[in-house]
Amino acid sequence: MYELARRGSSGDTIVDVGGVRIGNGFVVMAGPCAIEDDIQIETVARAVNAHGGAILRGGAYKPRTSPYSFQGLGDTGVELIARASRHHRLPTVVEALDAEQLPVLAQHVSMIQIGARNMQNFTLVKAAARTGLPILLKRGPAATLDEVLYAAEYALLEGNANVVLCERGIRGFDPQTRNVFDLAGALRLKELTHLPVIVDPSHATGRRSLIPPLVLAAAAAGLDGAMIEIHPEPARSRSDAEQALDLETFADLMCRLGALAPSKVASLAGR
Ligand code: PEP
Ligand code: MN
Repeated sequence: MYELARRGSSGDTIVDVGGVRIGNGFVVMAGPCAIEDDIQIETVARAVNAHGGAILRGGAYKPRTSPYSFQGLGDTGVELIARASRHHRLPTVVEALDAEQLPVLAQHVSMIQIGARNMQNFTLVKAAARTGLPILLKRGPAATLDEVLYAAEYALLEGNANVVLCERGIRGFDPQTRNVFDLAGALRLKELTHLPVIVDPSHATGRRSLIPPLVLAAAAAGLDGAMIEIHPEPARSRSDAEQALDLETFADLMCRLGALAPSKVASLAGR
């Protein structure tokens, strides 16, 4: 059994990411799929800050399906997002694809993301946990909820209590959506664990039109936050262009989220 991850008698865990508390209210992490250049990440960071996003995301080491696709800027990308984070006073989350990237990430970012493809790469999960930074652990595309919680347990056993889980869609059979957004699974996870649970409707659906309503649904259901891909010019995005929100749509979504009063959200969730 996942003794450390399972819900026990003590309350929900709150994870502090550079001063942002996850697990007590709805937190939005937003940013580009991949950090592309200085102007792009600065523009996005300004928008995230201006519209009430709490954490800046951006990929530097990209796990692309095709080796011919843009693989990210690597260490340079980490430096660019770190600079944008200082300018706009936002904590950051960046994915580690490999343990060799952890020293650079530990120096420059606030939270380390373990991507869906690596959820059960336990040596990476453990090494990331040992940095002491909070971990964003994304659900594997074919992982059961128990498997997610066992993966989290590996991080917790390293003595790092700051783990946030993320539902990002599981493999389905219908190409109309990139994956199947398992909102019920995310809610069931929250019943099983004290760790915060957020959603990523960008990778779950692969369609920008579906992202705002699903973020609102997750907030109304009492989940702990959302990760959203945004881009100043989505059509020019070097990765995941179809699922990037433009900055106006992001601003509109943040307004609509704000209109969901926290007390209403809490009562809808029955907590
Ligand atoms: C990402 O968030 O950049 C990403 C690649 O997501 P996932 O690991 O969920 O596919
Ligand atoms: Mn992406």
